Amino acid sequence: MLWSRQYQAIPRAFLPFTLTRPGTNNSIALKPMNVLRDIPFQLAEADFQSRLHLDRFPDSRAGVQELLQAALPLIRPKALFKVSFIGRRTDSTVQIDETLFASRVLSRNLKEVERVFPYVATCGDELEALESGTTDLFARFCLDTLKELALLAARDRLLEHLRAAYGVRELSSMNPGSGDARLWPISQQRPLFDLLGDVEGAIGVRLTASLLMVPNKSVSGILFPTEVRFESCQLCTRQGCPRRRAPYSGELAEALSSFHG
Ligand code: SF4
Repeated sequence: MLWSRQYQAIPRAFLPFTLTRPGTNNSIALKPMNVLRDIPFQLAEADFQSRLHLDRFPDSRAGVQELLQAALPLIRPKALFKVSFIGRRTDSTVQIDETLFASRVLSRNLKEVERVFPYVATCGDELEALESGTTDLFARFCLDTLKELALLAARDRLLEHLRAAYGVRELSSMNPGSGDARLWPISQQRPLFDLLGDVEGAIGVRLTASLLMVPNKSVSGILFPTEVRFESCQLCTRQGCPRRRAPYSGELAEALSSFHG
């Protein structure tokens, strides 16, 4: 099937690429993805050392410094997002651009929202070879910690960019597979990646057959403007999670219980 591309002279961030089948009225609006590269990464050494509990392993300091010398120049956090709009809504589904998502809590969270930002943020795939090239468990832990910090840098930069570029103050996120599985199942990773486009080509993040992301320190989801901050962690009962961003809220869980699919 042949396709032609119609291009309009409007600002890139709002520009849909429209693919039309010649001789038909069928068209699909494909909004471009916006990619944030060159995200600065500054290692806060005290925080890094405390995450590694280096005070308990003083003999490891020299090895860690050597590892940092190899790893730091490679770190390239990245993020991408789209500016997307809500279409049809039901209690259990919500259409974003051309893609239909199934989640009662997502539908409820996007009830008052028209514009959302599907996204992926990642530590970058540049440390993967270094990590898979060592069997030393402590070195792997160090690299994983660095990747975690790089992911935080990518996510912070993305939020900062969206606030400045689109005039939103508070943003919340829902992430497929995060927290209680009933909130938004991990199977919804596939339509999210389909909506975003060539994520692997743009920032090197791919989905495995079990829908996990590689690199492992990547996060995908939909950011939406909100008056009251929402975190999946508020509905997640997992104890001792080092990535918890908000305490569990029994009150919110009770209020949303009718929205669990
Ligand atoms: S508490 Fe941990 S596992 Fe649960 S949603 Fe938050 S980050 Fe995910």
